[in-house]
Amino acid sequence: MLTLGIDIGGTKIAAGLIDHDGALVYKATHPTPASSRAEQVWAAVAATIADALRAADGVVRAVGIASAGPVDLDSGTVSPINIGCWHGFPLRDRVAAAVPGVPVRLGGDGVCMALGEHWTGAGRGARFLLGMVVSTGVGGGLVLDGTPYDGRTGNAGHVGHVVVDADGDRCSCGGRGCVETVAAGPSMVRWARANGGTAPTGAGAKELADAAAGGDALALAAFRGGASALAAMIASVAAVCDLDLVVVGGGGAMSGPLLFDPLRAALADYARLDFLAGLRVVPAELGGEAGMGGAAQLAG
Ligand SMILES: [Zn+2]
Repeated sequence: MLTLGIDIGGTKIAAGLIDHDGALVYKATHPTPASSRAEQVWAAVAATIADALRAADGVVRAVGIASAGPVDLDSGTVSPINIGCWHGFPLRDRVAAAVPGVPVRLGGDGVCMALGEHWTGAGRGARFLLGMVVSTGVGGGLVLDGTPYDGRTGNAGHVGHVVVDADGDRCSCGGRGCVETVAAGPSMVRWARANGGTAPTGAGAKELADAAAGGDALALAAFRGGASALAAMIASVAAVCDLDLVVVGGGGAMSGPLLFDPLRAALADYARLDFLAGLRVVPAELGGEAGMGGAAQLAG
């Protein structure tokens, strides 16, 4: 029997049917409504679930939910920063009512991404894994000793908010100097503009990557800055958690050597402890499907 894995983000809602081996056999997606009404967003989630249930003839063995955070696992509620109208939204209970009679597990999207990559992607075989996504923000989750690590409330692995610049810019979280303020796509674009870049208004991380690939010195420097900040964060988290593997997904991963070459060079400079000698950083393999797979794995 198949497991239903749901992945809820700020731009897209996805629901997949996953078999025992972690293979995705069906996938439905709907855009996340840019609505200020919580029920309108829920209606889109319910429609996505209904699509997947139809494909499964109405029968699944369990349901896993990967939600943008913060989440609260005790209460089963979520308050995603990028879905502003959901504050303390009772997501687990709503899903349980929509798919009655089977176990329902909720997890953060970062830990589900890490778990998905650990199950069938680039993280296979790793014991102590950080899965992270670099795109408009920086997110992540931990699989420690082969087990997803939730922390007290379900929000462990929020690596985008590791501080890498003690006097740095304000972050969306309210703090300052978080790696997200340096290494997220929009942060690198902002840096390039502030340092004399000619990037036209509206140009994003994709245009910056194209410019860097074309040899533009300033765009390359922006990538080096972002990569260096990511490396500082990775070295810190790896030292705390004694990691053996870091899997990087999101748009950042698709930049390939533009990101990974300077990242690995900076990491070799930062991560000098003997026990970090074997630490590897690799691109994710599952793209946007890791969260659904990880949610299904979480559901058991
Ligand atoms: Zn922050």
